[in-house]
Amino acid sequence: MRSLLVFGLVLLLAGCGEGPASQKADEGLVVYTARKEHLIKPLFDRFTAQTGIPIRYVTDAAGPLLARLQAEGERSRADLLITVDAGNLWQAAEAGVLQPIESEVLTSNIPAALRDAENRWFGLSIRARTIIYSTERVNPLELSTYAALADDKWSGRLCLRTAKKVYNQSLVATMIAARGQEEAEQVVSGWVNNLAAPPFSNDNKVVEAIAAGQCDVGIVNTYYLARMVADEPDLPVTMFWPNQLGEGADGRGVHLNISGVGITRASQHVAEAKQLIEWLSGANAQLQLALLNQEYPVNPSVSLPEPLKRWGEFKGDDIPIAEAGRLQGEAIRLMDRAGYR
Ligand code: FE
Repeated sequence: MRSLLVFGLVLLLAGCGEGPASQKADEGLVVYTARKEHLIKPLFDRFTAQTGIPIRYVTDAAGPLLARLQAEGERSRADLLITVDAGNLWQAAEAGVLQPIESEVLTSNIPAALRDAENRWFGLSIRARTIIYSTERVNPLELSTYAALADDKWSGRLCLRTAKKVYNQSLVATMIAARGQEEAEQVVSGWVNNLAAPPFSNDNKVVEAIAAGQCDVGIVNTYYLARMVADEPDLPVTMFWPNQLGEGADGRGVHLNISGVGITRASQHVAEAKQLIEWLSGANAQLQLALLNQEYPVNPSVSLPEPLKRWGEFKGDDIPIAEAGRLQGEAIRLMDRAGYR
């Protein structure tokens, strides 16, 4: 299906006149996106309606899209790469497939911590990874920080997703940045000792295990719980915002990650690609982008829409999220030593 779509694209491009006066099919943008179609297509449609710039896209997982950009090199038709997790964006920048762009709109709409220092990628939405707990068996006053989930009192009561997921690698990477490697390793070892079950394959299963009584606390991205509560309002699981109080690492705030975008090095449509990213960082698109997946706007001028407000305001970690990429390898090795699989 995917290759058919691309094949069709190539035919379309080949079938068009190359004369300077003709409307060339390649005047539109091509996006490689690891975001699912239903989360991104409504925005592309609105951008096209407002600007007349058509957008074609290919969806796949982040790894294959990056491999493809590398294989295609300068011949790539892709103008933009959209993916989730700063770890993935960092890898793409390191692989040399993205180009830096200068934009005052982007530097004013997107906080510095949520974009690349060299402007090769920009956050589009915030994904907060937080603590969740059983409303039946946990008093939220017992909760404080991610690190405190290593305490003995949570023995046999903690559920986590697999360490193979980049979300947890980024969480641990930023913990290394905040606490140093030694302390971070003690925390992760403590988590492993407290596990009620082997790590799960996805965040939904962590929520379900707490609802079912298999464990009492866990760590997930907020949109998973938000979506499940929207379907089942009586779900006995809710969110806790950790690391809100105290000095240093204890008060660093909730771990934030992003979905984000960069312009490919091969792009022949840099001005239009930049226009799309600037448009996505603006107030209207930010609101819709957040609502489509119950994520949070990166643009601080956008106030929280209603379904997100119910979880309350929180302080987010303001560490440059690029650190999650830089320390990813160290985080993976640390989790492995600690027995977190
Ligand atoms: Fe996810």
